Amino acid sequence: MSKQTLSFQAEVAQLLHLVTHSLYSNQEIFLRELISNASDACDKLRFEALNNNALYEDAPNLEVRVSFDKDAKTLTIQDNGIGMSAQEAIDHLGTIAKSGTKDFMGKLTGDQKADAQLIGQFGVGFYSGFIVADKITVESRRAGLQADEGVRWVSGGAGDFEVETITRPARGTSVILHLRDDASEYLNAWKLKQVIGKYSDHISLPILMEKEEWKESEKEGEPGGMVKTGEWETVNKASALWTRPKKDITEEQYQEFYKAISHDHENPLTWAHNRVEGNTEYTQLLYIPAKAPFDLWNRDKKAGVKLYVKRVFIMDDAEALMPSYLRFVKGVIDSSDLPLNVSRELLQESRDVRAIREGSTKRVLSMLEDLAKHDKHDTTPNADGVTDVVDADDKAKEGKYTAFYSEFGAVLKEGLGEDFGNRERLAKLLRFASTSSDAVSVSFADYKARMKEGQEAIYYITADTLAAAKNSPQLEVFKKKGIEVLLMTDRVDEWALNYLHDFDGTPLQSVAKGAVDLGKLQDEAEKKAAEEAAEAFKPLLAKLKEALKDKAEDVRVTTRLVDSPACLVVQDDGMSTQLARMLKQAGQKAPETKPVLEVNAEHPLVKKLDGSVHFHDLAHILFDQALLAEGGLPEDPAAYVKRVNALLA
Ligand code: ADP
Repeated sequence: MSKQTLSFQAEVAQLLHLVTHSLYSNQEIFLRELISNASDACDKLRFEALNNNALYEDAPNLEVRVSFDKDAKTLTIQDNGIGMSAQEAIDHLGTIAKSGTKDFMGKLTGDQKADAQLIGQFGVGFYSGFIVADKITVESRRAGLQADEGVRWVSGGAGDFEVETITRPARGTSVILHLRDDASEYLNAWKLKQVIGKYSDHISLPILMEKEEWKESEKEGEPGGMVKTGEWETVNKASALWTRPKKDITEEQYQEFYKAISHDHENPLTWAHNRVEGNTEYTQLLYIPAKAPFDLWNRDKKAGVKLYVKRVFIMDDAEALMPSYLRFVKGVIDSSDLPLNVSRELLQESRDVRAIREGSTKRVLSMLEDLAKHDKHDTTPNADGVTDVVDADDKAKEGKYTAFYSEFGAVLKEGLGEDFGNRERLAKLLRFASTSSDAVSVSFADYKARMKEGQEAIYYITADTLAAAKNSPQLEVFKKKGIEVLLMTDRVDEWALNYLHDFDGTPLQSVAKGAVDLGKLQDEAEKKAAEEAAEAFKPLLAKLKEALKDKAEDVRVTTRLVDSPACLVVQDDGMSTQLARMLKQAGQKAPETKPVLEVNAEHPLVKKLDGSVHFHDLAHILFDQALLAEGGLPEDPAAYVKRVNALLA
């Protein structure tokens, strides 16, 4: 292939622009990204070579070399990993294959600070080289190809890049950075070692740099300088971080390792590092991020746990190791039992994998429980004058669960439907807003502790927004009686709560489903009045039912309303109108169930209905308004407007 110039995919060009204009505040991360790519390339070679030993050619020792040339102002990161063919270089370095890239680009605001934050979450990988370089040359040959099937890729980081085939005897990849003038500090062995130590100590491969020694100048009176010796030395610890004893690992090293595997640039919220012994032996190092990644809601978003077998990297994103509702967890699992040639299919079936998955799930739940426990510390003495002791470790956890929940709470709820075995533990971890708290901080246990004497259910309502939930007519009687109602506004709530019928023996009851039964909370007089109203309203209800027979399943008198004339509810076993609406918006089929119209016998509008010449129009307006009040739209909005206007006129 002779030299040709190709354009970057539009998203790459956009990303590059951002990288060069927004990411300069933390320049040195480029080295972490490139070394991490080099290390991945070696992992991939090792994995492919399991079935094809010839790929090692005559260089079985996998390694990364970092070198620089002061005169040429270049810094080179070279690996002898899997390498790239010409086509792979075009594909991998010219496009972004990540799912959700478009969505991500759409979120950029043009505000440099905010965007830099977002790119950090997205992960810039190879392109981070352009933070310090105004030109990058990549030379590579894929393992298994001939020497004359090498490739050179060159770009100035603007709209396009050049590729051509070259002869390259060495397998693997060299990334040659032509450093910008403001990045000349990386032409210094001491600086490079320091950055490598900070970001790449945990890389299990040796990272080599050429030794330098001091040499006096030959000319009298001139200072000496460092000269290269031709000898290479390993400058990192070169042992996988998770294999080291906990006590030898500093907090900072754990954090840097997290950043390297997650491409996140923020520190994680917390982590757990354990060696699990027993029937299945493995090491787990699991992290909970502080911020949700931009593609958390992508349906095909992969899990974030890497699988190693006896320290050999097997695969990224091993979804069999973590349930989907914990897809935000990042980390490493290193098994001592699985075969090295394990495939994704095999993983699904393996008993060891199931044990690892269960163990890891429990570990994550314990981490969350621990954060939840220390989210707020009560420092007021109890009745016996005893105050909880809060040590520095506990103190450091304050507010972390709230932070976690606002990022990942909605994902966690998916677990109710996905992980029956841990449903009770999960239920305890859930937090909601309520009629007594705008903050999403009320747990089922908090709610239960505040329940009114005689209250037999945990009441909740689902709606699209907090405002809609708070102002819903269905809450009127609960407000009047001072009964707390949980306000649920995540899209997943409705679905997730299908799987949770009670909490610790107390049933959950939607205030928008079925007839209100406040049980002991209603006094005898109220019950009697309601029954009498229902009796007296019978003829009117029959007429309303007839007028609305295409829209409403039933019409009945309710005690749940105070100020509003009417509201819609669904039958006990029905799908809520909110969920049905969501399904329809998502283009899915929703069962065609009709809601029940409930009317407030005390409301003047309802009282006026009987005998009104506008009965038919009023009946329809009543229904459509009830629909509007819960965030829905009348089936025929124009007809609704016409009816209202006719009455107004
Ligand atoms: P990511 O590593 O997140 O996939 P990058 O932009 O860093 O994204 O790299 C894109 C792709 O380029 C990688 O997935 C890999 O296929 C290829 N690549 C990058 N660096 C190397 C390397 N040193 N050796 C082989 N392939 C590489």
